[in-house]
Amino acid sequence: MQQNNPENIGRKPVRRVVIAGGGTAGWMAAAVISRILGKTLDITLVESDEIGTVGVGEATIPSLIQFHQLLELNEADVMRATQATFKLGISFENWRAPGEDYIHSFGLTGVDHWTAGFQHFWHKGRQRGLASDFGDYCLELRSAQLGRFAHLPNDVMNYAYHLDATLYARFLRKYSEGFGAKRVEGKIDQVMLDAASGHVTGLKLGNGALIEGDLFIDCTGFRSLLLGQTMGVEYDDWSQWLFNDTAIAVQTELMGEPVPMTRAIAHGAGWQWRIPLQHRVGNGHVFSSKYMDGEEAMQILLANLQGEPLTQPRMIKFKPGQRKQSWKGNVVAIGLSSGFLEPIESTSIHLIQRNLIRLMQMFPADGICRSDIDEFNTQVQREIAHIRDFIILHYKVTNRADTPYWEAARNMEVPASLQHRIDLFRETGRVFRTEGELFTESSWLQVMLGQGIMPEQHHKSADLMGDAELSQFLGSIRQKIERTVQQLPSHQAYVQRFCRAE
Ligand code: FAD
Repeated sequence: MQQNNPENIGRKPVRRVVIAGGGTAGWMAAAVISRILGKTLDITLVESDEIGTVGVGEATIPSLIQFHQLLELNEADVMRATQATFKLGISFENWRAPGEDYIHSFGLTGVDHWTAGFQHFWHKGRQRGLASDFGDYCLELRSAQLGRFAHLPNDVMNYAYHLDATLYARFLRKYSEGFGAKRVEGKIDQVMLDAASGHVTGLKLGNGALIEGDLFIDCTGFRSLLLGQTMGVEYDDWSQWLFNDTAIAVQTELMGEPVPMTRAIAHGAGWQWRIPLQHRVGNGHVFSSKYMDGEEAMQILLANLQGEPLTQPRMIKFKPGQRKQSWKGNVVAIGLSSGFLEPIESTSIHLIQRNLIRLMQMFPADGICRSDIDEFNTQVQREIAHIRDFIILHYKVTNRADTPYWEAARNMEVPASLQHRIDLFRETGRVFRTEGELFTESSWLQVMLGQGIMPEQHHKSADLMGDAELSQFLGSIRQKIERTVQQLPSHQAYVQRFCRAE
């Protein structure tokens, strides 16, 4: 079969991998590739201290735990090295309407019946005055609300981390170098391209050095030096749905105990994050420059900080969207070089991890095949479209109309795939997760209900329960969760104990 495809002919084995860029993406790439294939490959990472990294990206989602397991990292080591705290979800404040909050947690809510999700039983219970808040039936959500945390047997608690991105890159650098990855400091001035094959052959540094390779991983951040600038892969601009294009980031001292959740506080033309670590808090205001100027955004951020700033506020511009391909020729873009939606729901580091796992599964050790490239790109596009829809949901289903930004968000036309999910839930209470999608039914439910969509009906299975039975069913779930949560230590106490332990 391969002989029929002209692009496979003359395939060259991949022996030298060059990673351009040493931010979170670059060092995660170096860690994975060196851990799995370090013995058979020559791996070089080029990074420039002069350019630096984007310096944000400190909230993660539970999949990072699996990533660390793949690398066989000790959890307490990672947490100590990165000053990490545990994260159980995100507190959405003022998103539904000013003064109204909800939490999207990493947990599952209630107990499903095979015909109908828990929300149908809760919906009926609510109508009959037998149910309390939807979040009361979710362990992670209640633990986040009360600021409690512990590892529970059988991994019952679903969690992620808040971590210091600079320390994380440093930690992964040490790890990767231990598996043979080499680091070269220098600014890439020129990307050498072979005109005949269209493949990159080397990176020319400012000091004249040439780093040659067979496969190049573009981790140069928003610059997308290899895939975008050199290979000319176009960018799909999604700003018709995702209005935010600027962020101002600043670190502050920690005031009080770190909470086990990210706070996402909506403002007039965007939202503000608070990410508590062990030693400081990461803050930022992400907003749309079409609806608010930088000066006003800065004032809002500074007026809403808790604790003294430890750094100068930095402005970061971005264009929400995704490159049409993430892999072209012998260049694979990982991280911001392949695209960025926006920070809400912290999916960017997850996508780095997913694309690295994909690359490992399709690693072109014996040469690059067109079919691998196509498969990789198809999978990336499918995954990102689902995540994009989930993020747009947060804006579309707001009740806010108090500023032109929120008014425009409410009224925008969303992708048909998302509109269908919203309609389905509103009309029937049903939510389905397709295989391979990141966000669970519980995530969709917590956000849709949190934003104020109440289904018009529930499944008839719920009507088969009489009031007493339904009350007992709901009550037993809730009591079990409350009993567990009340026994948990405070998040702060647990972090200290866990990080002290050998
Ligand atoms: P960068 O960190 O920008 O690294 C680029 C690297 O390339 C650097 O080492 C740089 O020196 C190098 N480089 C570039 N050009 C050259 C050159 N010419 N020569 C040599 N080296 C070069 N993600 C999450 O998962 N959770 C979050 O909470 C989150 N919040 C975010 C908030 C904001 C405002 C933004 C913008 C992003 C956020 N992200 C978040 C995304 C996250 O920051 C990134 O996915 C992550 O940091 C990876 O970035 P990167 O390594 O691709 O790029």
